[in-house]
Amino acid sequence: MGFGVEAEAGALLAGLLGLLVGSFLNVVIYRLPKMMERQWAQECADITGKPLEAVGQPEEKFNLMTPRSRCSQCGHVLRWYENIPVVSYVFLRGKCSACGTPYGLRYPVVEAVTGALFFFCVWRWGWSVTALVWCGFSAALLALALIDWDTTLLPDDITLPLLWAGLIAAALQWNPAVNLSTALWGAVAGYVSLWAVYWAFKLVTGKEGMGYGDFKLFAALGAWFGWPALVPMILMASVIGAIIGIALKFSSGLREGGYVPFGPFLAGAGFTAMFFGPQAILRVVGL
Ligand SMILES: [Zn+2]
Repeated sequence: MGFGVEAEAGALLAGLLGLLVGSFLNVVIYRLPKMMERQWAQECADITGKPLEAVGQPEEKFNLMTPRSRCSQCGHVLRWYENIPVVSYVFLRGKCSACGTPYGLRYPVVEAVTGALFFFCVWRWGWSVTALVWCGFSAALLALALIDWDTTLLPDDITLPLLWAGLIAAALQWNPAVNLSTALWGAVAGYVSLWAVYWAFKLVTGKEGMGYGDFKLFAALGAWFGWPALVPMILMASVIGAIIGIALKFSSGLREGGYVPFGPFLAGAGFTAMFFGPQAILRVVGL
């Protein structure tokens, strides 16, 4: 690790790029679940032969690029200077310039957190391919955590590329933490272990404790950190999950059915492993 002026300037530049990526992540987090709903509605419409409107879905084009960002209340299309990460939020005092509806604090926070993650990656690994792949890992993990929290979905469009990217980064030695063998067996064991827990839980209690998205996300974490990191990470995710679950119970913030998605806690364990190394988790939980 170099700590010259250049290294710090590089990390700052990465942080600024991270703000822009965070702005895009806001779009992904908001639109990707809606795009999935539309696709399911389209498939239903194809089978039943009914028009899309019949299932409450408009016909107009909707993807990550179209339509442009607009106020959800009044439809005011954001001008370029109203769409600058963090700065616009502060400048507009968090409100729509046309109708005054407050925007959620979520948007600038996601941008700032993405900026901080990118800063960390370049500060930690220098201006390198390794830093770049960890920036990609961070962005994908943050998007997955928030989409799962909002909708209890973990889109294949993010989990599967994250899994493949982990294996490829290991094969090309862009990720020095693992070799291809530990990454591959990490992916396999990550998937199979949660799949087994899922079926055991279902057979005993008749309930579904998690979803297939959780298996794929844990497989991806196995590919990025290797199979020896799986036990520390699942312990970490369970501890974070228990703390948040109890906190939500006391604040009666639990949604209907008392369901808390597991993906955000797996993501939390992934970030902890990235910051401190997977073995540090064992020390944190006292093993
Ligand atoms: Zn508005």
